[in-house]
Amino acid sequence: DNYYDILIVGGGPIGIACGIEAQKHNKSHIIIEKGCLVNSLYHYPVNMTFFSSAERLEIGNTPFVTTNPKPKRAEALEYYRRIEQKFNLNTHLFEEVLAIQKEEGLFKVQTNKDQYTAKQVIVATGFYDIPMLMDIPGEELPKVKHYYDDPHYYAKQQVLVVGASNSSIDAALETFRKGAQVTLVVRGPAISPRVKYWVRPDIDNRIAFGEVKAYFNSCLSRVTEKEAYIQTPEGEICIPNDFVLALTGYRPNFQFLRKIGIEIPEEKPMIPMHNPETMETNVPGLYLAGVVCGGLNTHLWFIENSRIHAQMILQHIIQQA
Ligand code: FAD
Repeated sequence: DNYYDILIVGGGPIGIACGIEAQKHNKSHIIIEKGCLVNSLYHYPVNMTFFSSAERLEIGNTPFVTTNPKPKRAEALEYYRRIEQKFNLNTHLFEEVLAIQKEEGLFKVQTNKDQYTAKQVIVATGFYDIPMLMDIPGEELPKVKHYYDDPHYYAKQQVLVVGASNSSIDAALETFRKGAQVTLVVRGPAISPRVKYWVRPDIDNRIAFGEVKAYFNSCLSRVTEKEAYIQTPEGEICIPNDFVLALTGYRPNFQFLRKIGIEIPEEKPMIPMHNPETMETNVPGLYLAGVVCGGLNTHLWFIENSRIHAQMILQHIIQQA
């Protein structure tokens, strides 16, 4: 009891894919997820549209059907929930893995609710739990947010958006359309080339028409209750401000990964040590799956190119047996 061949940490798309693959090879499994099912996707902005087309988000050889060119968050939630249900996976939700220790060839896993023993452990914890901080005075104010949810909240507000990637541009456009006065602060000289190709002309035009005010080669230097200070090439300026959406990216929980024994170099991009052919870490029997394996390179791995980790890991496990 409480023994499983394979214990999977994280109930995101890739953790689910690992559960399906374990089942396919008749290995008993448990998926332990600290939040709701596909917790990261649940916390995406409510109106988000994926940059991937639906077939690239598919797992378990099961079609993701949509009539939209790109699926939306709500559709992805529905898809992964039905997948989990269809495969009848053993998923524990709202249970957090706190510690993993290897003793006499078996992993002892401690959660906030229970203890488990497993022969192999797959860590598929993603990178969405910890935001990259700006390290500026005022960042701790409640009006400074690192996750953006619903544009309605920002109607008639002075909103400053930091960043030039998809999250920032989506937030700037959505809040602008709900009547926020939007200022965009971009560290580099331009909007990121990774911005969804169908969104790009929209933001370019809003900036060109002065509907969204953009400061390039600039950074937010300080935030107070009522103001924001921006360091621009022409010097520091101060503007009235109600909310800051600091969508400056996220990073894996390196502290957790190190605590469970995975070696991580100090130098960027801090890629957790693993064999890219088997996904096994420096701890034999402990694997990485999904976007967590990129360390700070959070733009290299997506669902479409990391869902294969599930097959790679199971293949390695089967070969070892
Ligand atoms: P996640 O989905 O992040 O799953 C990790 C899970 O582990 C989470 O549910 C988390 O709650 C859980 N967890 C963490 N620590 C613990 C713990 N200690 N105990 C228990 N559970 C834990 N990718 C694409 O392919 N296409 C897209 O269009 C796309 N759009 C994106 C848009 C946004 C806004 C963001 C942030 C990312 C996007 N990505 C996209 C990247 C996408 O997040 C990942 O590809 C996908 O979520 C990765 O799946 P995963 O299973 O590796 O990680």
